[in-house]
Amino acid sequence: MDLEILRHSASHIMAAAVKRLFPSAKLGIGPSISDGFYYDFDIADKTLTPQDLLKIEKQMKKIISANLPFERIEMKKAEAKKLLKKDKETYKLELLEGIPDETVSFYKCGDFIDLCRGPHLKSTGELKAFKLLSIAGAYWRGIEKNPMLQRIYGTAFETDTELKTHTTRLEEALKRDHRKLGPELDLFRIYHEEAGPGLVFYHPKGAELRFIIEDFLRREHKRRGYQNVIIPHIAKMKLWDTSGHTNYYKENMYFLDIDKQKYVLKPMNCPGHILIYKSKLHSYRELPIRYFELGTVYRYERSGVLHGLLRVRGFTQDDAHIFCTEEQLQDELLKVIDFAFEMLKTFGFEYEVDLSTRPDKYAGTEENWKHATNALIAALEAKKQSYNIDEGAGVFYGPKIDIKMKDALGRPWQGPTIQVDFNLPERFDMTYAASDGKKKRPVMIHRVVLGSMERFLGALIENYAGAFPLWLAPVQVELLTIADRHLKYANIVKEALEKEDLRVEISAGSEKIGAKIRSAQKMKIPYMLILGDKEESSNSVAVRSRSKGDIGVQSLEEFIGFLKKEMI
Ligand SMILES: [Zn+2]
Ligand SMILES: [Zn+2]
Repeated sequence: MDLEILRHSASHIMAAAVKRLFPSAKLGIGPSISDGFYYDFDIADKTLTPQDLLKIEKQMKKIISANLPFERIEMKKAEAKKLLKKDKETYKLELLEGIPDETVSFYKCGDFIDLCRGPHLKSTGELKAFKLLSIAGAYWRGIEKNPMLQRIYGTAFETDTELKTHTTRLEEALKRDHRKLGPELDLFRIYHEEAGPGLVFYHPKGAELRFIIEDFLRREHKRRGYQNVIIPHIAKMKLWDTSGHTNYYKENMYFLDIDKQKYVLKPMNCPGHILIYKSKLHSYRELPIRYFELGTVYRYERSGVLHGLLRVRGFTQDDAHIFCTEEQLQDELLKVIDFAFEMLKTFGFEYEVDLSTRPDKYAGTEENWKHATNALIAALEAKKQSYNIDEGAGVFYGPKIDIKMKDALGRPWQGPTIQVDFNLPERFDMTYAASDGKKKRPVMIHRVVLGSMERFLGALIENYAGAFPLWLAPVQVELLTIADRHLKYANIVKEALEKEDLRVEISAGSEKIGAKIRSAQKMKIPYMLILGDKEESSNSVAVRSRSKGDIGVQSLEEFIGFLKKEMI
């Protein structure tokens, strides 16, 4: 059976059920999507609740057991218009206007009729396993000035077993949702009414986590011959005219007025790094030059597409630009690919690779594009790495390798990207002195090995379900005092652990020890040390692990050794 047909038919059955329960409901669209279906409704006097989903499911079951046939009815557009007008289906009328054909088709299912191209199941009885999942707001046609409709999401499968597997996975994904875990673990908050949407505020623990990752990144870059640079967040618009951004990337940029001049809040770091390169003459002997920066960029995204840490308006990239000779290109690409793979493995991700080719709007010559694309393909082939081609998904200045990280549930996340660029060196007239003394153009590689720090953090939280491995945990050890009189000993333990660069917190409140354990467990802290009279008098700690529970009493020294071993 075709799942798309099954799910699309399920959306019709759901719409029929909604119409029975809420006769004033006007229909939007009801397509099948990658793992289910939805239908949009305008129900003026009713806000749907999870309780309503149960009622709608019940009504759907009645329609299914009546085994009503899906009848196809064709009519002329004028006639269709009359019918939709009579039913006050204003949204469907708008859709009808957009259909170029003279004759249109409706599908009738009992007393429910819907403008639709089809195809559908033969009859409602063929739908065996379905579930309604959630309600969301959705602008009509995705345009923000249009009315907000109520969207019901559901899914359908051929068998109950498949449905059950899917819903269990959804529940697991929900538990790992970084939008839920982020605030729960006090890592960050994304939305402040006073600040505006899509802007991330890192709380101390979230900032700590970022610093752990960033320190690691800085070390790894240094080791691989990258140099740190830092550029300002704003620059004159002229710079972005030269780079082509004002021409190809305008919709995503923020403009400022300073001293009657137009400035841009940087959406990318490349032009800044190019200015640093251009600040002096370079010889072939210096290449490759690799500039690295944890660069924060700001990009306009419609408020409707903002999503947790994955789609935000301000984010930080672990960005680097490599300037090299043509002869060095292949070798540099291989190094970057290895670097990216190594990073993902370190953080527990599997990965797959896409090659994104030239988009519709592009800068530079076709020849340069071909050249750049071939360089990427050659590097992937040299690595014997399989890849999919993502047609037209490159950036305006060059093609790219996109590495998708796969988390513990096998879900893909956008991660590292590697781009080869012959265009910006030309636009900025970048040169180096070749061995024969002649001026030549360097090739430029743009690359991130984690991607956006925000998106990476979102993926990391969901990959580990918030229970970070010891080396990443913002708080590694929580000290739980049994009574106030143990606070002094707790401070001694804290100091000893901090001397070893461990991250420690004291839970000194007056709650019972059981409550303290529960709250440390809820914060997913890897180790808890329970400190009472016995521990204090023997200079020891009673150790509890987040995953294994009570693991016994150890001397402070033993415990430190034990943690160090786990972190290697
Ligand atoms: Zn249909
Ligand atoms: Zn760049």
